[in-house]
Amino acid sequence: MFDPRTTEEQNAVVQTARKFAAEHIIPVAGEFDERGEMPLDVFRAAFDVGLINVEIPDAYGGLGLHTLEGCMIAEELAYGCAGVATSIMCNHLGALPLLIAGTEEQKQHWLGKLTSEFQFVSYCCSEPEAGSDVAAMRTRLVKDGDGWVLNGQKRWITNGGYASFYTGFATIDPAARHRGITAFVIPRDLPGVSIGKKENKLGQRCSNTVDVIFEDVRLGPENILGEPGQGFAIAMETFDKSRPMIASQCAGLIRRAMDESIRYAKERKTFGVPIAQHQAIQFMIAEMAMAYESIRLLYMKAAWEVDNGVRRTNTSAIAKAMGADQAMKCTTDAVQIFGGYGYTKEYPVEKLMRDAKLMQIYEGTSQIQRMVIAKNLLVRG
Ligand SMILES: Cc1cc2nc3c(=O)[nH]c(=O)nc-3n(C[C@H](O)[C@H](O)[C@H](O)COP(=O)(O)OP(=O)(O)OC[C@H]3O[C@@H](n4cnc5c(N)ncnc54)[C@H](O)[C@@H]3O)c2cc1C
Repeated sequence: MFDPRTTEEQNAVVQTARKFAAEHIIPVAGEFDERGEMPLDVFRAAFDVGLINVEIPDAYGGLGLHTLEGCMIAEELAYGCAGVATSIMCNHLGALPLLIAGTEEQKQHWLGKLTSEFQFVSYCCSEPEAGSDVAAMRTRLVKDGDGWVLNGQKRWITNGGYASFYTGFATIDPAARHRGITAFVIPRDLPGVSIGKKENKLGQRCSNTVDVIFEDVRLGPENILGEPGQGFAIAMETFDKSRPMIASQCAGLIRRAMDESIRYAKERKTFGVPIAQHQAIQFMIAEMAMAYESIRLLYMKAAWEVDNGVRRTNTSAIAKAMGADQAMKCTTDAVQIFGGYGYTKEYPVEKLMRDAKLMQIYEGTSQIQRMVIAKNLLVRG
């Protein structure tokens, strides 16, 4: 049975992440957002404290924490800056295909790299012409002797410019759609791998987002994850396991919007009283609290299901969709509470609103989550 009570160990993990966000992330978040640069020192410090790769099992040098603890950490990091949280949690996204489908040898090799020294892995699924429609991907794997030749272009790849290796997906037969998709893992320094344009984004600007290009990249059998043709199932299982973490980041954004709004509403006066005394303002803050409590419970339940081997795609999708929509609403309301000042970079709430928008887009848009939920209810029963 799902039990929302947290243990002392979990509370200690949260305290570590909260302290890290207060000391290392919040003071520099605005500056790196403005410059659109990765705060590499912050990521290195997070690695040293043990806040990256937390779910990698101890057999591969990781902490072996559960998805639930990973989500609780993500909430705290996103409270500080959702861009930093996205880039840190991207290592988990990139590691998931290995955890799901890697052989023991592949796990030892690639996951061991992540835990032995500070480095990034990126997850290469989306393409210029294939985002929501994963099965439409055109990146090709063509058999060549014992190995394969990889050609194609991936888009929107988080940390792609900094990653030392990539997990990704390509098709061995575009006409076969999802049945042709195959998962792979490759080092960035293979001949034929290059980085394309860097996106100049609305929000989460300190998180690196680039094209990754493959030109006649030669892969050995050791670079293929699972069986050829199994890639679509691996990608979907990855999303089931990573979406609770997006929901937890949304909880962090909502809590930050609420805290900033409460502080400001008590200080700012109109018509001779603090705006906190106006019912219209009170209701917006009350709705932030309602959203936070709901999303926190939802992501905890979704994470609990992942940790306990209960594969319910819908809980992850509901948590992600609700979390993203509520994060967008609450951060927009925070800007409203701040009035004109909320629309400037003098206060952090405009950044929260820009950062929240991405939650409705990546790892499956809010529309795609609704499609997934409806399909599970109507088709699969
Ligand atoms: C900053 C950023 C970071 C990202 N990081 C990564 C990453 O690390 N790795 C990775 O692989 N991808 C990444 N992505 C890609 C992301 O997952 C895709 O952008 C997303 O899945 C949407 O795909 P798309 O952009 O092609 O939009 P499209 O698929 O073209 O969708 C456009 C619009 O149509 C809607 N739509 C599409 N199909 C339907 C339908 N059948 N019914 C109703 N509405 C529909 C969508 O909801 C959306 O509103 C990232 C994206 C961004 C912006």
